[in-house]
Amino acid sequence: MSGHGKAQERLDELVKVIASEVVAEVCTVYVRRAGEVLELFATHGLNPSAVHKTRLRVDEGLIGDIAAHARVLNLADAQAHPKFAYRPETGEEIYHSFLGVPILRGGRVRGVLAIQNKAKREYTEEEIEALEMIVVVLAELIAGGDLVGPSEQITAEGNAILPLRMTGIRINSGIAMGVAVLHQPRVDIPAMFADDPDAEEKRLNAALSEMQDAIEDLFSASELSERGEHREVLETYHLLARDAGWLRRLREAIASGLTAEASVQKVQDDIRIRMNMATDPYIRERMHDFEDLARRLLQHLTGSPLTAAGDAALPDDVVLLAANMGPAELLDYEPHRLRALLLEEGSATAHVAIVARALDIPVVGRITDLLARIDPHDPVIVDGDNGQVFVRPGEDIQQMVADTIQAETERRRLYAALRDEEPVTLDGQRIALNLNAGLLIDVQQLKDTGADGIGLYRTEIPFMVRAEFPGVEGQTELYSNVYEIADGKPVMFRTLDIGGDKQLPYFHDVAEENPNMGWRAVRVALDRPSMLRQQLRALIRAANGRDLSIMFPMVAEVAEFEAAKAILEIEIQREKKRGGVTPGKLRVGVMLEVPGLMWQLPPLLKRVDFISVGSNDLFQFLFASDRGNPRVANRYDVLSPSLLSMLRHLVRAANEANVDISLCGEMAGSPVEAMTLIGLGFRTISMAPVRIGDVRAMLRTVDAAALANYVDSLIDLPDHSVRQKLVAYARDHNIAITTG
Ligand code: PEP
Ligand code: MG
Repeated sequence: MSGHGKAQERLDELVKVIASEVVAEVCTVYVRRAGEVLELFATHGLNPSAVHKTRLRVDEGLIGDIAAHARVLNLADAQAHPKFAYRPETGEEIYHSFLGVPILRGGRVRGVLAIQNKAKREYTEEEIEALEMIVVVLAELIAGGDLVGPSEQITAEGNAILPLRMTGIRINSGIAMGVAVLHQPRVDIPAMFADDPDAEEKRLNAALSEMQDAIEDLFSASELSERGEHREVLETYHLLARDAGWLRRLREAIASGLTAEASVQKVQDDIRIRMNMATDPYIRERMHDFEDLARRLLQHLTGSPLTAAGDAALPDDVVLLAANMGPAELLDYEPHRLRALLLEEGSATAHVAIVARALDIPVVGRITDLLARIDPHDPVIVDGDNGQVFVRPGEDIQQMVADTIQAETERRRLYAALRDEEPVTLDGQRIALNLNAGLLIDVQQLKDTGADGIGLYRTEIPFMVRAEFPGVEGQTELYSNVYEIADGKPVMFRTLDIGGDKQLPYFHDVAEENPNMGWRAVRVALDRPSMLRQQLRALIRAANGRDLSIMFPMVAEVAEFEAAKAILEIEIQREKKRGGVTPGKLRVGVMLEVPGLMWQLPPLLKRVDFISVGSNDLFQFLFASDRGNPRVANRYDVLSPSLLSMLRHLVRAANEANVDISLCGEMAGSPVEAMTLIGLGFRTISMAPVRIGDVRAMLRTVDAAALANYVDSLIDLPDHSVRQKLVAYARDHNIAITTG
């Protein structure tokens, strides 16, 4: 069913020609197919009946080894190699010497070309180079799609063709189905060979200088280009772009008859083969730089766009693939087309994850070799909950996932119907359900979710997706929009929480060893009071006489709160002096996320109007366990007696002092955790918009007083976690804690 037609005929012809050109008794081509299988597609010299029958898994046998490591194998006696896998149907036992070369295109091994001879001898450098040249042609033939087309890969017969499953870390949960789209598209090479090498060299030179100018522009677009990382990155690019070895190899490839584009591709493939073998992280890093440079150069040669965002032919269900990505880049896509995001790098707290959460799409990160193993147009299923991805999935998996998505849609429909039902517990406790927001699309969710207000407006998010620091006017406009959209519902504005894992592209300072515990949030604000003053000024103006609630992040001691509040007071006085309108009711509070502040509760509670627990940070500092480090991600549980004990103490102290207390970390958005918070005495919680439905449904089935007794009984247990006990309690009491 595959491999027939013109492309197969050309391949059959090619193996004969190659064998006679390089004087080999055997010449075979294996093509990589779905399910990480290499199939014998054409041979000269081996048994022809093995064609389309012999298959090896990637990393099986010599052929599989070449594919797995994208490396050349040159062996005088192949059968003596530990990886040799004997396949009787091929009749290859009489051949000893073996030279195999990966067929690479766009960073992916598409197949393997091998020659064999009876005599035991190593092949020469010239012979290797000849094969490396030939695989450029074979790569094009395979990429043409006639030998193994994208659609063939899903419906292919044969058990050996298994769907590919990849794993990474969960960055955002949810399940989605769609079509793979590369954020930075591979560039199609229009022609491989050219008659006029001089003309090609001119084209190459023009593209090189265009590329250098464009890189220069890119970096000078930022005001801060003169210092910090920008400068270093720019210098690295300059050095690489002038790398004599690289330029020489490009010119040699052109002189051998390739087009400028094919030369860039070939040189890049060669670099990849060599560098793939290196384990030194510095060398691998350089490979990334060369990749980026080669991609840019190809774009200048072909005039194709840098990212897929502007592609008019984007499918309706995009699963976006990137090495890594900034938040603004994700926002360049039309949200209704985005189904999921897959990253080679990334962490749960990365900025792009925050935007993805706002867009409500699953994200899986840290997927090894993602870009090399998925092709554009591949059908993909993303299971964000379990950090796994199915590429070219079988029909059974597709059906199962379609059913899950259907059930999820149904559940959301039910929750939407619940939207106007009050979040009241069985024993009549009214719980305030608030949203965490950072983008205006989150604030718009107030209507759809029926939430009471915005419990945490992360002001740094709009800063992170911008190219430069917004001034007072820009910020005033932004916060006014938030007020307008919130339409009278309360909003808690948190002042900038930059630093740590939330770096602004234009606000650089020295790299820190421990950025989470470094110069971030209120520490930056107090050291750079003009930044804080501008923000407070904008907030006061945007409030324009309406109530204003402000909280300061990462406050570690009462004195910091006092200092920040004093700055707010200066801005209020300034506004009065200029005859402006001051806020109606002004409420000022802290995020409680540094354990040290717990030991100053009496003076703190006298001074604040409210406290909001940032359980994400509080948890990481309480357990000294980095929230972005997957190695310790599941080591401790938020439902541990120690955290619960701390929270109970805090709620009691706040209640006694008559200070409002809420919690706005991730745990508020999960039904079991939210249930526990109610048991601890919280009556206000704030979460991502998509979590509201689940939590509202849970609240309406819980008896808060009975639960409080049960939670109390857990706090002095020596357990690592009381999660199982709480889940069992919920089941026994028919509390709706199902999660999607
Ligand atoms: C927190 O730390 O719990 C929190 C809500 O703030 P962020 O996640 O923005 O650090
Ligand atoms: Mg925090």
